[in-house]
Amino acid sequence: MAEVRISSVTKKFGEVYAVNKFDAVIRDGEFVSILGPSGCGKTTMLRMIAGFEKATGGEIAIGDQIVSKAGNGIFVPPEKRHIGMVFQSYAVWPHMNVFDNVAYPLKIQKVPPEERKERTTKALALVHLEEYAARFPNQLSGGQQQRVALARALVAAPGLLLLDEPLSNLDAKLRESMRFEIKDLQKKLGLTVIYVTHDQAEAMAMSDRIIVMYKGVIQQVDVPTKIYEHPANSTVADFIGLVNFLDGEVKDGVVQLSQIGCSLPLAVNFTGPALVAVRPEHIEISKTSGTLRGKIVSKLYLGDSTDCRVAVGDTVLRIIDRGASFENYADGEEVYLSFGHVMAFPK
Ligand code: ATP
Repeated sequence: MAEVRISSVTKKFGEVYAVNKFDAVIRDGEFVSILGPSGCGKTTMLRMIAGFEKATGGEIAIGDQIVSKAGNGIFVPPEKRHIGMVFQSYAVWPHMNVFDNVAYPLKIQKVPPEERKERTTKALALVHLEEYAARFPNQLSGGQQQRVALARALVAAPGLLLLDEPLSNLDAKLRESMRFEIKDLQKKLGLTVIYVTHDQAEAMAMSDRIIVMYKGVIQQVDVPTKIYEHPANSTVADFIGLVNFLDGEVKDGVVQLSQIGCSLPLAVNFTGPALVAVRPEHIEISKTSGTLRGKIVSKLYLGDSTDCRVAVGDTVLRIIDRGASFENYADGEEVYLSFGHVMAFPK
């Protein structure tokens, strides 16, 4: 059982709150990402779960054991938390071959040599590195080195796997295939995974739930679709995906967008000034009909879509069109626009 319960955990470095009152329950067998921009505190939070960093306040429990309780002197060292950890930098030992790197945690635990060999071989098979056991890290690609780190994290059969930006040193293609591999491993082994990343596409693709952090504080905890389609605030809307922001005024179920001279029906539970957000793929371009008029400023061909800039008065909207607009529309052409899913946040 590797449920992780984090209650009001805080970490201060001097006067800076790197993490401020972090509350979350990561369920057994769940894949949860901590997502946020650089410096938001996600690595610090992960390191506190691992035991590499001591919390200033709050409590962390893994399974039935409280591993950290600030002020009460409870602090279980990392090697006793029964976790596996993978770092961005791989952190494999250059002087050991692949087999010895992966076997190392078992050696520390004084597992007998025969069993050690069997479990190491199994862990290498899990990450498809059986053939590479005798090689040294400098004879491996980045992706292979990261697989060594993954096998080493899994060899002691931890219930909880912590990953800190494990794919960010890999090229785009390898990163995508490793996403599938990690996800498959998690399912196959029934692992609880906490995955730190600043890459929202990665978090979306892999996670059961995402914890979005900003400046040390949790902004939203939810499933990927909710985070994308119903962000809790404008910070989350801005960080996740692309968004056009407009000033608005909400009254009687309608939002007035004076900047672009139109009003739209909108179901929100507040009235007054609002920051209105529309994703580029939720605005439709048409030659014949729509809610308002605009003029194509520029367009970029992206293969599966066209990335357009369309001016409505002085406001330029970004629109991603999955139709044939690259061929269909000319720069400077007058078009109609209609809005799909519109979000609004009180100002
Ligand atoms: P990145 O994606 O860039 O690694 P992050 O979200 O993981 O960023 P953290 O590394 O957790 O962010 O850092 C959070 C904040 O705490 C930052 O402002 C950072 O400068 C500060 N910080 C982290 N470690 C220390 C430290 N040992 N001493 C002082 N400040 C620190």
